[in-house]
Amino acid sequence: RTVIHWFRRDLRLSDNSALYKALSVGTPVQPIFIFDTQILNKLADRDDARVTFIYEEVKAIHASLKKYHGAVAVYHDDVLHAWRKIITDFNPVAVYYNHDYEPYALERDEKVSAFLRDQQIAVYSFKDQVIFERDELIKADGKPYTVFTPYKNRWLEKLTNEDLKSYKIKEQLKNIHTFNRPFPLLSQLGFTETKQQFPNKKYKDVIVDYHDTRDFPALEEGTSHLSIHLRFGTISIRELMNDAIRLKDKTWLIELIWREFYMMILWHFPHTTDHAFKSAYDRIPWRNNEQEFEAWCKGKTGYPLVDAGMRQLNETGFMHNRVRMVVASFLCKHLLIDWRWGEAYFARKLQDYEQSSNVGNWQWAAGCGNDAAPYFRIFNPELQLKKFDPDLVYVKRWVPEFNDPFRYPMPIVEHKKARERALKVYKNALKN
Ligand code: FAD
Repeated sequence: RTVIHWFRRDLRLSDNSALYKALSVGTPVQPIFIFDTQILNKLADRDDARVTFIYEEVKAIHASLKKYHGAVAVYHDDVLHAWRKIITDFNPVAVYYNHDYEPYALERDEKVSAFLRDQQIAVYSFKDQVIFERDELIKADGKPYTVFTPYKNRWLEKLTNEDLKSYKIKEQLKNIHTFNRPFPLLSQLGFTETKQQFPNKKYKDVIVDYHDTRDFPALEEGTSHLSIHLRFGTISIRELMNDAIRLKDKTWLIELIWREFYMMILWHFPHTTDHAFKSAYDRIPWRNNEQEFEAWCKGKTGYPLVDAGMRQLNETGFMHNRVRMVVASFLCKHLLIDWRWGEAYFARKLQDYEQSSNVGNWQWAAGCGNDAAPYFRIFNPELQLKKFDPDLVYVKRWVPEFNDPFRYPMPIVEHKKARERALKVYKNALKN
């Protein structure tokens, strides 16, 4: 019989808590991965970069396990169907996996664990992708934090070396189940390879002067580009936090805490995936002009920083954080388009798409989230450009025609007028 480790968004063989615990049992451990058709069927693009990324990472794990005469058993199915096959294939006594906090994942895990327990199979799950999860950090009155600064202060206070201890797996890999099965082709999953590149995992040089470089989108190495690795667990959060503390980069450490903050928020307030955290904001009468939305998506608004960001996103699957804030604010405030449209577009395009961070940051930009920017603070895209891309290096990279009136559109809205319109609409909607 075997013990199963179910890989999901923890795609690594080092410092992986559930995998470590599974390997410690002493029964041969069979790793599995399920390409969940419920998720895959919803993807709009057959060359979706996230699918290529996951595929390559699982394949790399599969290749590494050869040394131990093991392999990842891959399934491509509805999750419960896949589990029926897994039980027939491996007759497991127990199943191990790491926690996932998104609403879909919680529902899936609930269903799968109930099914497995019904079959007399034990289920064990562990914290792995964050340092503090769910309600591990709550206010003195027992309620969840909704404001970042006190959450972050408590987070820093509570942290001990024990929280950052890594799970040393290497010696345990001898306990992998002996198994051999060819790895499927990407085309067998119904997908083709993306043309986009993926960032590497080098970050130590970046975080040394992160505080000074993080806001300038022209600097390719101004930020770590680790977000996709954090999304799919190809790097350990404990390792990153350790380095952030060792290299004394508090600014970067705080960014990692933002990530946990939004995961905690989504876990406590799952309705925020499609409702404003501050419910009064659901009354805003969005204009939702489709042509303007399309101009925004394509990077043709006539505002060079907004357009550069959207083109970077469309081409590479990444956008710099400063520019994400500017394009999001522009969509919600200047164009008065529902933040959910923007959130959905980012969800389709971002390699690092993370529901908690995306929803949280979109609501921050729209002013409707917990601890959001006040609605009357409206980014001026021209001033943002002067401040954060003063030599226009980023803009020239993505919008080379920005200075040519024959090739580059006039601004689709005039800043001052759009600002006044947004203030009026927000104020009216929030009056009662
Ligand atoms: P770094 O600056 O090197 O930061 C390190 C890590 O800290 C990031 O990889 C990320 O995990 C975390 N982090 C940094 N900033 C934030 C933040 N504001 N909120 C939460 N976590 C943060 N991030 C995502 O991972 N997925 C998303 O879907 C996503 N959507 C966003 C949508 C909008 C409108 C905005 C304004 C921001 C969004 N972010 C999202 C946050 C942020 O822009 C990215 O995490 C960051 O740009 C990734 O680049 P990096 O890895 O180089 O970040």
